[in-house]
Amino acid sequence: MIERVKLEKFFSYISKFRKVVLLGHVNPDGDSVGSLAGMADFLTNNGIEPVCVVPSAYPGFLSFLDKNGKILVYGADKDSATGAVESAELIICLDFNSLSRIDELGEVTGRSRAPKILIDHHLYPDPLFDVIISDTEVSSTCELAYIVIEELRKIHPDLAPLSHDGQTAIYTGIMTDTNNFSNSVRPATFRIASELMEHGVDKTAVQQLVFGGFSEDRMRLLGYMLYENMKIIPEYNATVMLLSKEVKDKFHYNTGDSEGFVNMGLNIKGIVVAALFTEDNGFIRVSLRSKGDFSVNELAKRYFNGGGHKNASGGRLYIPISEVERYYADALEKYRHTI
Ligand code: 5GP
Ligand code: MN
Repeated sequence: MIERVKLEKFFSYISKFRKVVLLGHVNPDGDSVGSLAGMADFLTNNGIEPVCVVPSAYPGFLSFLDKNGKILVYGADKDSATGAVESAELIICLDFNSLSRIDELGEVTGRSRAPKILIDHHLYPDPLFDVIISDTEVSSTCELAYIVIEELRKIHPDLAPLSHDGQTAIYTGIMTDTNNFSNSVRPATFRIASELMEHGVDKTAVQQLVFGGFSEDRMRLLGYMLYENMKIIPEYNATVMLLSKEVKDKFHYNTGDSEGFVNMGLNIKGIVVAALFTEDNGFIRVSLRSKGDFSVNELAKRYFNGGGHKNASGGRLYIPISEVERYYADALEKYRHTI
């Protein structure tokens, strides 16, 4: 249950303000774009025309959630994105817990005096937000956004519901953040997914759009990563994959191509922690997954300049890719001695 006072504050803000910006995180995934598109649909149905802004481009397979290409990408158009945030009367942040997760947009947002609402499912939300609707038990921000909308409509029955596109967006975020209903699902997750299907969300179409539209290059990259690149470090029950610029070029890498790779290490019997390190411009993107009690959130916070959830976290490293494997093994060794 979401506290009534928070819902009332949310309602008073959306009743009062017309210039609303919805913010998503860097490298937006299905939950990020889904929650933006879902919340944008709800607000639009209730007379607000929100502007969605993300720090960097979302992968092409999510473009069905942004049919009119209205999501502003800061990296592609800094002026428009900055202008939208600067002129916002209300800012709603979805699927991230601190302004550091939106890179340079964090500074612009931090300077804004507009009230800021957070709807998120990561640990330790930053107290700077004016309304914090945060729950680490939900599967995804989309699940939480759906609950917020439904609870608001119970209190204020005049509010218009989500339309078909909004429902599809919410379903997509739940489906992707749970890795197709396998991680972090609880009974309520299935109840909400069922409700969305009953209302007409086409589960098969969404699945096809998200998991059935890969390029040949992406499939061959996956094959290469599993066959030649992934290493097992038996001492730590760990796996590691290194996606260097050289490999990216070889397989004509596009944003989102490595989505889901990091989970695969955990499918090996006995493996409890899996990592994917991706060489980016000036830093290494870190992706960590674990099973059971092993907290990659702790590991990411201590050694990888990041965080996230207990079993799924990320971060950044500022060392050459050639040093990453050793650094990872050292981090696992140190971590083992401190837990
Ligand atoms: P992914 O591996 O899919 O990029 O990220 C997994 C989880 O870790 C996500 O929930 C994401 O929010 C979090 N995460 C990814 N990168 C970072 C980062 O640089 N900093 C923090 N604090 N969290 C991150
Ligand atoms: Mn999420």
